[in-house]
Amino acid sequence: ASYLSNRINSLSESATLKMTKLGRELAAKGINVISLSVGEPDFNTPDNVKEAAKKALDENYTRYSPVAGYPDLRQAVVDKLKRENGLDYDISQIVISTGAKQSLSNVILTLINPGDEVIIPTPYWVSYSEMVTLAEGKSVFIDTTIESNFKITPEQLEAAITPKTKLFMFSSPCNPTGSVYSKEELAGLAKVFEKYPNIFIISDEIYEHINFVDKHESIAQFDSIKDRVIIVNGFSKAYAMTGWRLGYIAANKEIAAANEKLQGQTTSGTCSIAQRAGIAAYQDGLESVQKMKEAFARRRQLVYDLLNDIPGVKTNMPEGAFYFFPEISSFFGKKDPEGNVIKDSADLALYLLNYGHIATVGGDSFGNNNYIRLSYAASDENLKEALRRMKEALAKLV
Ligand code: PLP
Repeated sequence: ASYLSNRINSLSESATLKMTKLGRELAAKGINVISLSVGEPDFNTPDNVKEAAKKALDENYTRYSPVAGYPDLRQAVVDKLKRENGLDYDISQIVISTGAKQSLSNVILTLINPGDEVIIPTPYWVSYSEMVTLAEGKSVFIDTTIESNFKITPEQLEAAITPKTKLFMFSSPCNPTGSVYSKEELAGLAKVFEKYPNIFIISDEIYEHINFVDKHESIAQFDSIKDRVIIVNGFSKAYAMTGWRLGYIAANKEIAAANEKLQGQTTSGTCSIAQRAGIAAYQDGLESVQKMKEAFARRRQLVYDLLNDIPGVKTNMPEGAFYFFPEISSFFGKKDPEGNVIKDSADLALYLLNYGHIATVGGDSFGNNNYIRLSYAASDENLKEALRRMKEALAKLV
């Protein structure tokens, strides 16, 4: 509507949430839809975390919390960063928020002036570029393909830098590709950033524990640039706590204070109960995370084998997260049984939903049109059936 702000009119709807919604609508009509579109572990929140939340209620943790979060939760984050990542932070550098999503949005609003450039490797998580748009910044994309495992080189990074570059943002492990940057690869990027002291780096590490290749490496480990790195992380993926809305940043003190100021005028501190639960999650270690990872590892192999069995689909073996990002452009130009031409990845995703009854997300929403994203956060049976349907539906395109 024309009375809505330019800001909101220029914003796209989240494609992942849209496909999930369309899938739910079909399901409401009684159709058995298998959803591979959501970025959500299909596990329950660990019991100890739920117990901590119940206790928090009984102890009346029901009032406004400090804007940056309870000090003992921030301390738990400091301890976690030391214990799991070998990184030193002070509590004043930690700001708790309503999910990593809000943390990302806070940081972008904190750093970006109109016209500032933000370098984003593609494919990227759907919200990155939209958040930049909201802040009136300009997204500058570095395209990658399956041939490089969707990772950028230091040369590509340097070529994208201009005098207007303010920020670089990426996720490792990556949503939507599952790619994981090694320590050596991160060191190569850090070397470039050393030459450009005015560029900040958002390191989205929300999938850090779903990593099948190695131990997680953070670009914040390089002391020469650490002060300019903003780590974004949260509890959603590691502890199956998507609905609790709990995330945080670790950044230099100025950025942390600015985030607190912004949050103080917008949302205030996040849910008090979720924060108490977060402390329990970090105090209780990685046992439940490990179990979840084992299930994901098994499904990764399953989906890899099944995808390789579908003619016209090309995939790599993702190293982390719980997504596949196969190349599907060989189907562009083909027709569905009603004669509609599949023009792009969004068409293919819609076709798979309507004919195959599986919900996926077109790669165009992640900045790479030649691909689709499949989440394997689903049961083994559902994954087998979904991939069977996918193979059958794709074979009907001529
Ligand atoms: N960053 C990435 C790469 C994600 O995939 C997601 C969730 O899908 C988020 C951030 C947001 O996580 P949260 O639930 O903590 O807001």
